[in-house]
Amino acid sequence: MPEEEILPLRRALLAWYRQNRRDLPWRKDHDAYRVWVSEIMLQQTRVAAVLEHYRLFLEAFPSIEVLAADEESQVLARWSGLGYYRRARLLHKAARTVMRELGGNIPENAAGLRRLEGVGRYTAAAIASIACGEAVAVVDGNVERVLARLDGRPREGEAVWQRAQELLDPRHAGDWNQAMMELGAMVCTPRAPQCLACPVHEWCRAPGADTSRAQEERKRVRMARALVTNAGRVYLAQREAGASKMAGMWELPELASGAERDGEVLCTLRHSITDTDYEVHIVALPLRLLKAAEKRGGRWVDVANLAKLPLTGLTRKALRRQGLLA
Ligand code: SF4
Repeated sequence: MPEEEILPLRRALLAWYRQNRRDLPWRKDHDAYRVWVSEIMLQQTRVAAVLEHYRLFLEAFPSIEVLAADEESQVLARWSGLGYYRRARLLHKAARTVMRELGGNIPENAAGLRRLEGVGRYTAAAIASIACGEAVAVVDGNVERVLARLDGRPREGEAVWQRAQELLDPRHAGDWNQAMMELGAMVCTPRAPQCLACPVHEWCRAPGADTSRAQEERKRVRMARALVTNAGRVYLAQREAGASKMAGMWELPELASGAERDGEVLCTLRHSITDTDYEVHIVALPLRLLKAAEKRGGRWVDVANLAKLPLTGLTRKALRRQGLLA
């Protein structure tokens, strides 16, 4: 795209964004801590799923000082339900790094931000541009798709970042980056993009082009979890500290294949994590059979204390379904 076309394209997209952007809580101010929390939460998670978690998380940890000072278990408890708990652990670690090594000052450029735990290229660019106005472009799936259609050809790897940087409006970097992502999320969607309503239609080389990759095959897994209750308490097991996923979090014990016949199936939950769809039977197990479900590190937890523990998303869902958790 020739240089003389880039200026009007920038103007058109920014004007559209300022009129049409969704009213999202992290767009209300440009505080680096808040932008950081929102960007970490939004990784691999839909906006609608993040909204309430974002509000509650900031209520509990209104500043980086408060976040750094609290225990990891409390941070995980507040993150519960969002999944991908490694994000929360790294955010907490990075907050401690900022307090310990940077005097509580969050770096104001992408290079400095990338040195923090859990902050990759995309996140560093998003925080630096939105909170600090640094002229550095972001690339996510939305931006990549919009660029491929605008230019009429897909790019890969570093070439996408370079192209995003060429189009970036350096005077309005934060708004520009958000505008590109918003266009991809709301108008230039993977399927059925709304080209007639698109603010950059006149510069687009491949309106409506199919940029989707073949859907990866998803795995299906069936399992059963035991819900054992006794005198206002629930039996929970803790995942091992070295587990590759959700280490240290609390969950309903898993039942060996066929053991669900010993109890009553209370409900069946569907739960998806990355490329796997789980079908999970929640089984009320008599107390005398607890041994079969028991895992090392399990314990009885008062129902009133469940919300204070870092629970896996599936366990949270099951406990809510049974009216044991608000
Ligand atoms: S015209 Fe259509 S394909 Fe092109 S950027 Fe706009 S919505 Fe996307």
